[in-house]
Amino acid sequence: MTLTEKDSQYLWHPYTQHKTAQLPIAITRGEGALLWDENNKEYIDAIASWWVNPFGHSNRFIADRIYKQLTTLEHVLFGGFTHEPAIKVAEQLMKLLPKNQQKIFFSDNGSTSVEVAIKVALQYFYNKGEKRTTIIAFEDAFHGDTFAAMAASGISFYTQAFQGMFIDVVRIPVPVKGKEQLSFDTLRKVIQEHDCAAFIFEPLVQGAAGMVMYEAEALDQLIQICRDNNVLTIADEVMTGFGKTGKTFAMDYCPNVPDMMCLSKALTGGTIPMAITTFTQEIFEAFYDEDINKALFHGHTFTANPTGCAAALASFELLQTPEMQANLVRINQRHLGFQEYIKKHSKVTTTRVLGTIFALEIKKEGEESYYGTMRTKLYNFFIENGIIIRPVGNIVYILPPYIITDEQLQKIYTVVEKAIEMV
Ligand SMILES: *Cc1c(COP(=O)(O)O)cnc(C)c1O
Repeated sequence: MTLTEKDSQYLWHPYTQHKTAQLPIAITRGEGALLWDENNKEYIDAIASWWVNPFGHSNRFIADRIYKQLTTLEHVLFGGFTHEPAIKVAEQLMKLLPKNQQKIFFSDNGSTSVEVAIKVALQYFYNKGEKRTTIIAFEDAFHGDTFAAMAASGISFYTQAFQGMFIDVVRIPVPVKGKEQLSFDTLRKVIQEHDCAAFIFEPLVQGAAGMVMYEAEALDQLIQICRDNNVLTIADEVMTGFGKTGKTFAMDYCPNVPDMMCLSKALTGGTIPMAITTFTQEIFEAFYDEDINKALFHGHTFTANPTGCAAALASFELLQTPEMQANLVRINQRHLGFQEYIKKHSKVTTTRVLGTIFALEIKKEGEESYYGTMRTKLYNFFIENGIIIRPVGNIVYILPPYIITDEQLQKIYTVVEKAIEMV
């Protein structure tokens, strides 16, 4: 039996209707931007395995650090105990984060980092004796699949089975070009009409919505409106963090800073599941009290796992090397070059680039759904051609590991162009 056949017997995959889905491809090894399946077919990982892998697969530098940590202290409980890797992660992260971020809280994945941020926002006001229970989020947002994260997410088929069971969330339009004023006005109105605790957003790029982009000036305004009204702001940088937008964080483009940030995905260089929520000192102080009930009663068994921390530390180091910073610039320039070329194609309606992220929309007849037929045709074409790309409806995006070579990038561009011809 092949791995793929055995898989069907035992495994339940994410976002998969097993009755109609194609069987999964069994990957047996990876190196750099490349992956190989059980038949030794080679693939270029053009989406960094769901945006987690900036430095390439099976990275030796990170692996050695992980091994060293595993054979020194693999794990210890974080309730009542602490350890150097966690402290070092905090020290290093503070150097990278906006200056107002002073406290960090560990969890295991992007959804839980959001869950923590939303719970903290709600309890912040509870602790102060103020009734503020509504969360503001963007239309088409994606913040994860746990309950509060799902409530904040606006992509309907992820959440429709659970309607009516959520915390209160109100949505405002994304301030894409031409919609800025509508977004500002709606935010002001929502704040007037509801007891709003916090505004959560994916800064500059909405990943799961199909790399929808908007300008930093617009985000800056939205944060300012929240600030003027004492509404907390949560920047969900789970996708955008650690270089994807060309800067370490998308928030680095924005003069106004958020009150909280959510980090995961590339945090450990795509090796060990870990997440962090970061806070201002002011938020921490709303929980700091003689009264035990004001504490944050939230935690995960693997909180601040030292092995994950070692991987994160190695990743911070790699990201800051001149070589890696040069890669960010190089990928951006290549993307811009391809954009100039492909935007003239008669079947391409829009293109967008920010940092290492490239996206284009293909002209469609009628409505094309998230997992529709054009999407399936495109996906299969990419796989046949040895490229891992997961289109979102008629949107094709590229978000490669930063160590991808120019030749590999060129191959991706060539296959993308052929795919546009094909559909
Ligand atoms: C992926 C993602 C999440 C959820 O992270 P998981 O690790 O999949 O739980 C949350 N927010 C954003 C912006 C994401 O891209």
